[in-house]
Amino acid sequence: MHLGTISSLTLPADNGTWSVTLVASAKDKALRRLSDAAIWERAVRSLPLVAHWLDGQPIDDRVMAMAGIEDRHRNLMIDGAPVVTGVVAAGDAWACSNPTVGRGASIGMLQAVLLRDTIAATGLDDPWEFACSFHHATAEMVEPWYRDTLAADRHRLAEIDALIGGGEYRPGDPGWEIGQAFGAAAAKDPDCLRGFLTVAMVLGRAADVVARPGLLDKVIALGGGWRDEPLPAPSRAGLLSIVAGDEERIGESRNGRGGHRVRRDRSGPAGAPVAWVPRLGTAVAPSGPGPGPRRVPGHRP
Ligand SMILES: Cc1cc2nc3c(=O)[nH]c(=O)nc-3n(C[C@H](O)[C@H](O)[C@H](O)COP(=O)(O)OP(=O)(O)OC[C@H]3O[C@@H](n4cnc5c(N)ncnc54)[C@H](O)[C@@H]3O)c2cc1C
Repeated sequence: MHLGTISSLTLPADNGTWSVTLVASAKDKALRRLSDAAIWERAVRSLPLVAHWLDGQPIDDRVMAMAGIEDRHRNLMIDGAPVVTGVVAAGDAWACSNPTVGRGASIGMLQAVLLRDTIAATGLDDPWEFACSFHHATAEMVEPWYRDTLAADRHRLAEIDALIGGGEYRPGDPGWEIGQAFGAAAAKDPDCLRGFLTVAMVLGRAADVVARPGLLDKVIALGGGWRDEPLPAPSRAGLLSIVAGDEERIGESRNGRGGHRVRRDRSGPAGAPVAWVPRLGTAVAPSGPGPGPRRVPGHRP
């Protein structure tokens, strides 16, 4: 859930555990203090739709930070010729992006099925032919999902930049605007929710889903005013004051003298939220000035 300059993720897991995540841009230095458990907890408690996820026994007293994840696309076909035969790149070995959108396993499975189909259709007797077939099939059937994810991430980062600067994000991209409206409409209408989840779960691409009879009209009618809807989160100024406050406690917890509100419970995993803070800006390519994605021969981010 995007909540201004942060996003939240609440993920059920096994053995009665779950995790609560706040996602921020790597460029947002003010929010790096969220890696302090006390500050992180205050921030989560300020989110009315998320706060109740803190009701449980923590299994760790730290906030686990995750950063430095890159967008990567490994292309084994350069200038129309395979750079290698007898080996394919699939799943994350082929392409990976932002783990917080939870699409990597699904995209990897799509490609695994495609690999099976390509083997069935082309056979393995001609390694060159097979490499070319799998490359083209991947580019046609799987790469659009990666590109969609990348585009959404870059919009999100640019939106965060605009909101940090006190402005509004208006990229003039109708696809992005409809995507935002889709998200708002999904909370109000079951057809819109089903359509939204179809896209999120990698079952159908947005352009195909909104082409369902009547759906786009509903999305626009119910979600077109998404910018005017109240955000269930503090304002940017409110968030900054939450992050900046209580200097003494922050200092104590950094010095290992306590002050964390998240307790260690070694008795078992039941009901234990794991707190971790991946930073979106390092999970995807920077959208503005700054270092671009790592360039590696054969990689096309
Ligand atoms: C924090 C996080 C959360 C995520 N959440 C989601 C989610 O909710 N939903 C979702 O769909 N995706 C999610 N993803 C993405 C998803 O995990 C990956 O896209 C998916 O696991 C990729 O599958 P894979 O088989 O290609 O690679 P991997 O799952 O990385 O498997 C590669 C395997 O190869 C092994 N290996 C590596 N080198 C060698 C070697 N030399 N010899 C032998 N074995 C080797 C590794 O140990 C590993 O077991 C998340 C990713 C991260 C990092």
